[in-house]
Amino acid sequence: MSAATIVEAPMPLVAGVDVGGTKTEAVLLDARGAELSRARVSTRTGPAGVVGSVADAVAAARRAAGPTGRGGLLRAVGVGVPGAVDAATGTVGRAVNLDVEDLDLARRLEAALGCAVVVDNDVNLAAVGLARSRRPSTPSLAFLNLGTGMGAGVVLDGTLLRGTRGAAGEIGHLCFDPRGPRCGCGMTGCLELYASGSGLLRASGGVPVAEVFARAERGEPRSSAIAARFSTALAEAVRVLAQAYDPAVIALGGGVFASERLFLPRVRRVIGEWEASSTFVRSLRIGERLTVVEATSAVAATGAALWAAEIAASTAAGSAPALRR
Ligand SMILES: [Zn+2]
Repeated sequence: MSAATIVEAPMPLVAGVDVGGTKTEAVLLDARGAELSRARVSTRTGPAGVVGSVADAVAAARRAAGPTGRGGLLRAVGVGVPGAVDAATGTVGRAVNLDVEDLDLARRLEAALGCAVVVDNDVNLAAVGLARSRRPSTPSLAFLNLGTGMGAGVVLDGTLLRGTRGAAGEIGHLCFDPRGPRCGCGMTGCLELYASGSGLLRASGGVPVAEVFARAERGEPRSSAIAARFSTALAEAVRVLAQAYDPAVIALGGGVFASERLFLPRVRRVIGEWEASSTFVRSLRIGERLTVVEATSAVAATGAALWAAEIAASTAAGSAPALRR
C-alpha cells in the first residue's frame, strides 16, 4: 500500500496588501480567514514599481507561510493604496507618494499574480479590517486617519460606504474656521489644516507634534494655541463622524497617533466641555466610542484580504470583472 496515491487539493488562500509610501505589507489568510503569515518589502514608486512591490510582498508572504503558502491556490488579492481609487475598475487615479497617476492597478496585478484583484483606498480597507477583526466584530465603525491629510473610512451596518463619487468619509475638507487660511482643495479653513500631521507642522513652523504638545504643557503661549486648535479640530472631526454616521466605534489612526497620549486627553476634555453644555452631545456618548489604532498598515492589509475574500465568496462564478464593486 502506498500513501502516495492520496492527492490533496491545494489550500485556497487570499492575500491583502497595504501599499505605503515606504513599505508594502502583505498578509496571507487561509480559507477560514485565519492569518498564515505576514511580510514587508520596500515600496518602489512609479507604475511598474508599485505593481512589482505588491507582487514581491505577496510572494514573500507565501514563502513565510511555508509549504501551505507556497503550494496554496491564491484565489483573490485585495490591495489598499493611499490615493484616489476607482474601486469599480481597480484604477488608481492619483497617488502622489507613489508617483502614480491613472494606473490600471487591478488589471496589471491580475496579469502578474494570475488571480482576481480588488483595489481600494487604504483608509477604507483599514476600516473594513478594524470592523471585521474586532472580537466580536462590529457592524458599524469609522476609522479616522490623520497623516498628511485627514480622511475617514466608514463601515455602516456591515457595508463599506463609498457614495456616488467616492467621497463618503472625506471630512477633512469640512470647514473648521471660515476665517482660516486657504486649503489645497480651494476652500477655506478646512479641518485637515488644523488636525493633521502636516497641518500641525505648518502651524508650528516645523516643530514636531510631540514637541508642540510638550511646550504647550509648559504653558508656552504659541504652542498652547496650536495644541488647543489641533485638539478642538480633532474633536470636531470625531463629532462629525458620530453625528453623520453614528458608528459604534470611532477608531483614530495614522502617523500622528504615535503621540496620542499627548493630545488624546485634550480631545476628550473638549468633548467633555461640549457634553457639559449640550444634552444632545451628551446623549451621543462620543468618548465611549473612541479607540486608537497603533499599526494602521497591518490593519489595512488585513482589511484588504478580508474584503477580497468576501467579494470572492459572493461572486459564485469567480470571474474577475465581477469581483470589483
Ligand atoms: Zn480643504
